[in-house]
Amino acid sequence: MNLHEYQSKQLFARYAIPVPAGKVAASADQAVAAANELGGSLWVVKAQVHAGGRGKAGGVKLAKDLDAVRSAATAMLGSTLVTHQTGPAGLPVHQVYVETGSKIEREIYLSLVLNREAGRLAFVASAAGGMDIEEVAEHSPEKILRLNIHPAAGLQDYQCRQLAFGLGLKGDQIAQFGRIAHALYKLYLEQDASLVEINPLILTGDGRLVALDAKINIEDNALFRHKDLAVWRDPSQEDAMERKAAEHELNYVSLDGNIACMVNGAGLAMATMDLIQLHGGKPANFLDVGGGATKERVAEAFKLILSNPNVTAILINIFGGIVRCDMIAEGIVAAVKEVGVNIPVVVRLEGTNAPAARDLLAGSRLAITAATDLTDAATKAVKLAGEGK
Ligand code: GDP
Ligand code: MN
Repeated sequence: MNLHEYQSKQLFARYAIPVPAGKVAASADQAVAAANELGGSLWVVKAQVHAGGRGKAGGVKLAKDLDAVRSAATAMLGSTLVTHQTGPAGLPVHQVYVETGSKIEREIYLSLVLNREAGRLAFVASAAGGMDIEEVAEHSPEKILRLNIHPAAGLQDYQCRQLAFGLGLKGDQIAQFGRIAHALYKLYLEQDASLVEINPLILTGDGRLVALDAKINIEDNALFRHKDLAVWRDPSQEDAMERKAAEHELNYVSLDGNIACMVNGAGLAMATMDLIQLHGGKPANFLDVGGGATKERVAEAFKLILSNPNVTAILINIFGGIVRCDMIAEGIVAAVKEVGVNIPVVVRLEGTNAPAARDLLAGSRLAITAATDLTDAATKAVKLAGEGK
């Protein structure tokens, strides 16, 4: 689960990681009131969306007076922000974060992630932080520092110093950096994060290191033990179909093609998408109905893939091992009874109770095309999807 910047900064503050003073606002009046309470003569108004790249997309505005705060908040609130991380549809802005403006001397990149290859948490850091970090990573990868942390030993002070030197920090900045790195490490472990990123970590005009931006990702499977974080979920920032799928415990990912897939097993689901692509088609989704699927869940899954307006054909690919083919068929028939289906459905069923499943589907009102194997299924789905357009 992603957190908003203002939520991440609240967590940072709990771990004594320095952040600018700020207040969240849901209206222009609230934004002006927030700036008034914060005081000072420079503010930043920041759109709260689950994506970075806001600075380059007009989602971060410096304001030198309250009128500028009002106009920035008015422009952002209720709009849809498109950044290079949101995709073309963008994300809705329902809140802005109003912060005391900072004077920036330097911008550093610092994140803590899981290095899956090494099986260790790793700091990634760069002296060339800020809005162009993606280009730095692509064109001058030597400017990116990496540091793995031994899980038993934990983060060591000498490692913090090593990173600080690599970032060109001096004097007291080195101790400040060490405190921030240790706090990040503690936060990551205690809150079951999967990513913590500060870009930029700034050096202010008066020599302080401050987290100017904050991005935290919490591992979904650990949310049950973080009730205080779970309530921060913001469904408005999530894909509507994926949200619906999660409610039914379905493993579903939206894609931009037109061939809906219903498959059991994540590996088979990926192989199915590859085959569709190989034969010139485009999958509309990834969907693994899973080994423990019930008839009801299959029905929900089928209704879900049908609710995507781009879909012009459906490919059902089930290899019944633990899951019984006839149970899948019952779920599909139940869904078809509720919602009409007028697009072609290609079915490849093998394994436990496959003949019974074929009989059930043949008796339904679906326009079913039977497939003999995977390649046959994919070619037929691509052909029929093209005709349906
Ligand atoms: P992102 O573009 O979504 O990553 O949003 P950030 O929070 O990182 O802000 C983008 C950029 O805005 C930063 O890299 C800074 O250059 C600038 N910025 C943000 N807050 C301040 C501030 O308080 N003062 C100044 N001078 N610039 C800021
Ligand atoms: Mn940023």
